[in-house]
Amino acid sequence: MTATRTALAWEYSPAPEATDHIRLKDRYGLFVGGGWRDAEAYEPTINPATEEPLAEIAHAGTAEVDAAVAAAREALPRWQRLPALERGKYVFRIARLIQERARELAIVESLDGGKPIRESRDVDVPLAAAHFFYYAGWADKLRYGLAGREVGPMGVVGQIVPWNFPLLMAAWKLAPALACGNTAVLKPAETTPLTALLLAEICQEAELPDGVVNIIPGDGSTGAALVRHPDIDKIAFTGSTGVGKDIQAATAGRDIGLTLELGGKSANIVFDDAAVDQAVEGIVNGIFFNQGHVCCAGSRLLLQESVAEEVVEKLWRRMGLLRVGDPLDKNTDVGAINSAEQLQRIEALVDAGEREGATRRTVACTLPERGYWFPPTLFTDVAPAHRIAVEEIFGPVVSVLTFRTQAEAIEKANASAYGLAAGVWTDKGSRALAVARGLKAGVVWQNTYNQFDPASPFGGYKESGFGREGGAAGLRPYVRLT
Ligand code: NAD
Repeated sequence: MTATRTALAWEYSPAPEATDHIRLKDRYGLFVGGGWRDAEAYEPTINPATEEPLAEIAHAGTAEVDAAVAAAREALPRWQRLPALERGKYVFRIARLIQERARELAIVESLDGGKPIRESRDVDVPLAAAHFFYYAGWADKLRYGLAGREVGPMGVVGQIVPWNFPLLMAAWKLAPALACGNTAVLKPAETTPLTALLLAEICQEAELPDGVVNIIPGDGSTGAALVRHPDIDKIAFTGSTGVGKDIQAATAGRDIGLTLELGGKSANIVFDDAAVDQAVEGIVNGIFFNQGHVCCAGSRLLLQESVAEEVVEKLWRRMGLLRVGDPLDKNTDVGAINSAEQLQRIEALVDAGEREGATRRTVACTLPERGYWFPPTLFTDVAPAHRIAVEEIFGPVVSVLTFRTQAEAIEKANASAYGLAAGVWTDKGSRALAVARGLKAGVVWQNTYNQFDPASPFGGYKESGFGREGGAAGLRPYVRLT
């Protein structure tokens, strides 16, 4: 059954971010050995809100992956010998340059990925700079952060990132790697390469020694070639669990460091003593932030039975106020779906939810004629075995389940192949701590959701992967201890 709600007739004047100062090149090559080189093949990157091409992007093949790894290998001894304090200064300079180019980076992130400018401007770009600042500070303190042992870099690291937070994920990968004295080959995702390529320009502006960072756009075949390259010392991957499993199999038996940051189906748990209005804001942030293209999205909403009806009604009313549309409009809450393929995946899972008997409500809003869009959607009458309760939808869709007791809440939250994050909404600190201890999730937020800080480690259990990014724990995968 499908119900719809028409968004309340609150008309805002459009507030589009100006883009006339953005100068994208027609074509971007590969950033290898400190300079730009041509590739054998190019692919367009498009704006998912308009389907218009933005630029032609190099697609790195096997020979180009070889060249990037060779450049990183050549740069390693000099970079490693540099006094740690000097290395830290380069990382700090990258942070400063991200701040200087923040407006441009935010606009390009929204153009290429479809996310609302409010989010790229206030979350993605400032957090990316914060990660470089944070790890710049660690560069000359590694021995203290890592139990007084001799610390050396892993060597040449291959880093593969997804499309949902393109610049931020690149920062999570590069900042600790550089601070620890590694050189890197970074592969951005195929649908969102632009901000990584602007980051290559920033590395040049920072006068980072040639070959310390190499950026090679491409698709899964480029990533697979990087993973299988015999001269790589460590792979850091963020992406889907399926590809993570492939990578684990491809690296098995090799003396190689591996961290996998994978998918999730995180539980957002609301107890009957929670402040309901605050919880509703947290639920909205948990699932509709970045169109739900968030690995730790609170996509399984667990409501205590006695407040379930009230929370659902307030949530549904709040959903009707979300503004869906032009990512570059500063009023927009929910932007474009990142690609046609992702839209198809969301539609298929939502269809499965209806077929399996859950009750669907979708906000009825006027969507732009071109581009990829999916309106905010809520499912009730969801059974734990339904696909929408089990599989990662990675879109603006929340599935509501209910529980009676604290023990049942913990059991239901943990009944997932994933273990990335969770939220607990309650008035009682003791209950929040007891529930957090019982949850098998890398991050547990109390009375909030989707809070990130470079000093705080992030990572998963079970099929959400292993290894931590952020904080002192985020240094560990990038060093060898002797
Ligand atoms: P994806 O696994 O399809 O792709 C991720 C990256 O891997 C892309 O750069 C892609 O080109 C590359 N790739 C694809 N096939 C490859 C292969 N065989 N070998 C090596 N590289 C390959 O994932 P996606 O659809 O881009 O991203 C969404 C997924 O990422 C979701 O599952 C989400 O939960 C996860 N994610 C996890 C975190 C985290 O920190 N745990 C953060 C963001 C996203």
